[in-house]
Amino acid sequence: MYQVDENGFYGEFGGAYVPEKLRQCVDELRSSYLKVIEDQEFRNEYDQLLKDYVGRPSPLYLARRLSERYGCRIYLKREDLNHTGAHKINNAIGQALLARRMGKKRIIAETGAGQHGVATATVCALLGMECVIYMGKVDVERQHVNVERMKMLGAEVKAVTSGGMTLTDAVTEAINEWCTHPEDTFYLLGSAVGPHPYPDMVARLQSVISKEIKSQLMEQEGRDYPDYLMACIGGGSNAAGTFYHYLDDERVQLVLAEAGGLGLASGKTAATINLGKKGTIHGFKTLVIQDENGEIKEPYSISAGLDYPGIGPMHANLAVQHRATVLAVTDEEALRAGFELTRLEGIIPALESSHVLGALGKMKFRPNDVVVLTVSGRGDKDLETYLAHTPE
Ligand SMILES: *Cc1c(COP(=O)(O)O)cnc(C)c1O
Repeated sequence: MYQVDENGFYGEFGGAYVPEKLRQCVDELRSSYLKVIEDQEFRNEYDQLLKDYVGRPSPLYLARRLSERYGCRIYLKREDLNHTGAHKINNAIGQALLARRMGKKRIIAETGAGQHGVATATVCALLGMECVIYMGKVDVERQHVNVERMKMLGAEVKAVTSGGMTLTDAVTEAINEWCTHPEDTFYLLGSAVGPHPYPDMVARLQSVISKEIKSQLMEQEGRDYPDYLMACIGGGSNAAGTFYHYLDDERVQLVLAEAGGLGLASGKTAATINLGKKGTIHGFKTLVIQDENGEIKEPYSISAGLDYPGIGPMHANLAVQHRATVLAVTDEEALRAGFELTRLEGIIPALESSHVLGALGKMKFRPNDVVVLTVSGRGDKDLETYLAHTPE
């Protein structure tokens, strides 16, 4: 009921609104992706790399001290322990293998903070493919270390100078470049956004997360579903992967944490679901943060991975159908929660993941509730930000 329909819609959201010159590339991808990712040979190769290269399955860890703090049983799904330090590699490997099957030799991708750029450059090195990363000029300057990592991995980084010179503009540029060499170029999109079939393809490639949660919970709790599933949301890929096998299981409450920035009323926020209106961005219909004239507003969050002005169509639908609860977590709440996890469990989370940890305090749990919360990435990349905000 909450999955994509045959036309690429989740309820009224999604679809593929692309200019004519991209139509051929969208159609080619649409006619190939399911055939390939359901093919046994593809699955074998993908699963083998997830196991031996990424290090899956990622642990499902019962966090005892954190559980005590919030009065329930909290399990952490440890995507931070993946190679390259986040969930993004699951998707990047899958799409790169698909690209190779489609006969493409050149990968292009967008990146904001650089995390998806690094995951893509990593996979391109692994598979020996050419790699071009589009990144806003402002982000190139802000994320110097990730730019160096991408270059070391053999990628070319193209600084985008249109618009606000950030992620939104990098996506626009990558989409525009996608069909310039249709015979050899593949656009490797980093989140559950963009024109159909990207949101569905990314959700399927990330669904390994909920598949593992099922068997790990069975082993540890004697039942294969939790009472709550919680994830942070930028575009929506780690949340889509966390929810995938539970979307239609109404015993499970779905909770999304989006970036509140300085607060919903501050004008400096990335709380797309709370504040967005229906609109079209980057080739799909969703909720978009926009001004009175329908112009997309530049989002803000302390966490670079969450400041996207749109939201994946799956999640827009989950929110308007009231299937998911959406909480806005501010910079300050996220920072506090990041320090709390560090001190209680010895795990430094990515600032993105700190947003879903910051949502714990807004929930009302009962002692026997089983909560699974996805730690989407590790916090090494965010140390400077954390240290600049160390609590008393
Ligand atoms: C990119 C990123 C996110 C946000 O992206 P989603 O597609 O919403 O998952 C969250 N956490 C980390 C660690 C990231 O790198």
